[in-house]
Amino acid sequence: MKYEAVIGLEIHAELKTASKMFCSCPNGFGLEKEPNINICPVCTGQPGTLPVANIEAIKKVIKTALALNCRINDFSKFDRKNYFYPDLPKGYQISQYDKPLSEHGYLEVGDSKVRITRIHLEEDTGKLIHPAGADYSLLDLNRAGVPLMELVTEPDIRSGGEAKKFCQELQLIFRYLGVSDADMEKGQMRCEVNISIRQKGAEKFGTKVEIKNLNSFKVVEKSIDYEIKRQTEALEKGEKIIQETRGWDDAKALTFSQRIKEEAHDYRYFPEPDLPPLNGLLKWAEEIKKELPELPAQRRARFGKEYGLPEADVEALICDPELSEYFEEVSSELNEWAKTAEPKIDVKKSVKLAVNYLTTEIPRIAGLSQNENYNLREKITPENFAEFIKTIAQNVVSSSGAQTVLAEMFKTGADPSHIIKEKDLAQVSNEEELAEKINQVLEENASAVEQYKKGKQNSLMFLVGKVMAATKGKANPQVVTEMLKNRFK
Ligand code: ADP
Ligand code: MG
Ligand code: ZN
Repeated sequence: MKYEAVIGLEIHAELKTASKMFCSCPNGFGLEKEPNINICPVCTGQPGTLPVANIEAIKKVIKTALALNCRINDFSKFDRKNYFYPDLPKGYQISQYDKPLSEHGYLEVGDSKVRITRIHLEEDTGKLIHPAGADYSLLDLNRAGVPLMELVTEPDIRSGGEAKKFCQELQLIFRYLGVSDADMEKGQMRCEVNISIRQKGAEKFGTKVEIKNLNSFKVVEKSIDYEIKRQTEALEKGEKIIQETRGWDDAKALTFSQRIKEEAHDYRYFPEPDLPPLNGLLKWAEEIKKELPELPAQRRARFGKEYGLPEADVEALICDPELSEYFEEVSSELNEWAKTAEPKIDVKKSVKLAVNYLTTEIPRIAGLSQNENYNLREKITPENFAEFIKTIAQNVVSSSGAQTVLAEMFKTGADPSHIIKEKDLAQVSNEEELAEKINQVLEENASAVEQYKKGKQNSLMFLVGKVMAATKGKANPQVVTEMLKNRFK
């Protein structure tokens, strides 16, 4: 372990605004089903058009910057970043150069603290499509002009795992703030990795390599770990690392050289003459600060304390802001109910039951993976869900009956008591009602009774099974077991 990795990230996130950054076209995040439907003379760069800055986008960047402990610049401005590429219709990108909206922040993830160099605002580019085998390319400008937030970190990260965790926490913060859906697979969040290797303890950084187009957290981690190995081996062989941009080949699980940086790009930045500079942002930031919601780290700490749940449960709840709010409503319903519930119930146990259903059963019933997004509230109200937990806590339905109830609730949104009645799912726990069936089963299975009396424990299970079958699965198995044991005493 002679070497250590030095890693800095550049992260882009498409802002969740109604319209694009400098025109009034709807913001479809470039995910429109038809090409070139959300375009206009401004975002297609026609001569003579003028941009107007989207105030909501500026506000969302300031909000993010405040959540990430950044300093807001009272004065900020837009600059032109000039370069030619067919997906950039104006021949320049409106970005921010020396006066970004914010600088000098940090984010703590676990034990590591990653400093944030700056967060600024710019516009997204269009997309080039290269049809297979064709000698032409197609241009889709739906995404051109979508507001894009860029966040740059200091080179404070030391491993692939740490980088992945940082990106995940950032995504969660964006979602809590409502500034971006930040779905990496959809390109709403994009991550570029800068990585170099140096001797442990050395002050000077090594030559850095940039890895581009990483479209999942897993790939961020894997590509970094691959680069650490590749660069370390090269250094040990006495080779020099060349400054270059590399891509990630997922099938081969390796990085490959894309282009070698001979010299720095000359973007010929200059202040955007068609947009006024922004002044007095600090005063505005004071107002925006008041709108900051509870952030994931705060909610994580509060859930741990308030609900006494294990870490894995807390994480499963807070990784989805809507789900965690939903859970809180269910939990408060259960607490209220427990005060007067007859028979008495264990609230803590019911709350834990609610967590299990919310984080594992519901996604399974809905056929979803655990972190897939769906709006549960639209399917089942928190009141109905709490009602559902109550029916289990009070043994109104068996656990298999509960599965049926929940699936039906998910499908129709009906309340559980209605479904239980409709489908005749209520569990029979009444001893008088069960006694007759038990008598019948004992008469018909005399040999099993004999064997149980001789000490064969399995025979008890057999008899319980017979009672369950005789009641079409409606008997409460715990009650039946107790009743049988009492009979044989
Ligand atoms: P560039 O001008 O090439 O984009 P910057 O200095 O703006 O480089 O840094 C871009 C990113 O690279 C930042 O996240 C920064 O932390 C990171 N970085 C800079 N130098 C190194 C290095 N030697 N090794 C790893 N990351 C680095
Ligand atoms: Mg860069
Ligand atoms: Zn437009």
